[in-house]
Amino acid sequence: MKEYEEIKVTETKKVATGITCNKCGKSRKISEDGWEFGEFQSFSLSFGYGSIYDEQIWKFDICETCLVDFVNTFKYSPNIYEV
Ligand SMILES: [Zn+2]
Repeated sequence: MKEYEEIKVTETKKVATGITCNKCGKSRKISEDGWEFGEFQSFSLSFGYGSIYDEQIWKFDICETCLVDFVNTFKYSPNIYEV
């Protein structure tokens, strides 16, 4: 049988306090509750077997202006859905 007592645990963790567009450098603060401005999108890309970037993961954040500029270079527009 084990005996228990309550102890206070202090935890240190890393939280995002700001977000910056990797392409243009525009920055915004992130609120204390973690709410991010909707004008940024975060990407995480994992390259698979056969790619010259195999086993790499690329992470970056892009503002909507830069994202629209990028998407406008597409030959075919992305599928867009309302949620
Ligand atoms: Zn940007």
